[in-house]
Amino acid sequence: RDSSGAVIGLVGVSTDVSALREADEEVRRRDAQLAEAQALSRVGSWEWEVTTGDQRWSEEAYRIIGRDPSMPPPTFEEFLDCVHPEDRRRLADAVATAIGAGSDGVYEIKHRIVRPDGEERTCCCRGRVFFDLDGTPLRMIGAVQDITERKRAEAEREALIEKLDALARTDELTGLLNRRAWDEELSRELARARREGSPLCVAVLDLDGFKAYNDAHGHQAGDELLRSLARSWHDQLRHTDVLARYGGEEFAAAFPAWPLEAALPVVERLRTAVPAGQTCSASLVAWDRSERAVDLVGRADLALYQAKLRGRNRTVTSG
Ligand code: GH3
Ligand code: MG
Ligand code: MG
Repeated sequence: RDSSGAVIGLVGVSTDVSALREADEEVRRRDAQLAEAQALSRVGSWEWEVTTGDQRWSEEAYRIIGRDPSMPPPTFEEFLDCVHPEDRRRLADAVATAIGAGSDGVYEIKHRIVRPDGEERTCCCRGRVFFDLDGTPLRMIGAVQDITERKRAEAEREALIEKLDALARTDELTGLLNRRAWDEELSRELARARREGSPLCVAVLDLDGFKAYNDAHGHQAGDELLRSLARSWHDQLRHTDVLARYGGEEFAAAFPAWPLEAALPVVERLRTAVPAGQTCSASLVAWDRSERAVDLVGRADLALYQAKLRGRNRTVTSG
């Protein structure tokens, strides 16, 4: 303006802000990408400026603990409140150790979260502490991963393996242990008897003339007899005894901790419990406290053969 106030000219500065706007856009794009990646991988992140107390939690970290993202980030105490009571101490200890002097500042711990609605999640939490030169903690960063589904899948897989393992040890017709399981159980019992210096007996029971029974009544009736016999024998034994279908119409039993005299009446009771007027031959042998399982069972087979030779429907023992 001149001295009278009239406008005589115009001066201005113009700044090109398109680069700034682009940079802003880029930051927003990367934030969105990060949030998406966190949601996909179920990993939330957080940081904590120890000196100022400032905290930042990613949206996924809020989601994992079930906290409303419009609320301020939880304090450490509030976060601990979200942790399953049984896991709190372990987590607090891990963080305290990481912050403590002489630590490498890193921790990793699996713990449960209980969301406000009561839903339980399993998380893997990792954190790192940054120290200044004097060893004072300056800053912490961390990641919290929701591994609930993975844990569940692992548990399902383990349950399935257990089920398959049980199936592989079970005789399909009778539900008793099969021969493979018998071998395992007998070895286990022998090892225990050796360790504890206790006695052990093994019996083998074989139905007499079962081929004729099948021929007369049909294979299905034969199956039914084997099934009901197995059930009745199983119910008569102690749960520490081992009973298995050794093959066909032949069964094996082990009586841990029992000498021959104690096991004999039991074998006699089993032998005479065969339904439908059928009979059975049996052998009962006492472990000699040194022989291997295969030799013990070999002696039982031999004694059974003797029982058949001597006219069946009897028990032959071998001390
Ligand atoms: P022994 O008195 O000498 O033992 O005569 P056995 O007829 O019992 O013996 P053998 O070994 O000659 O025949 C066994 C029979 O057992 C033949 C077979 O059909 C029958 N058997 C084996 N397994 C099964 C089964 O799972 N179901 C049925 N129904 N029969 C079976
Ligand atoms: Mg037979
Ligand atoms: Mg046989």
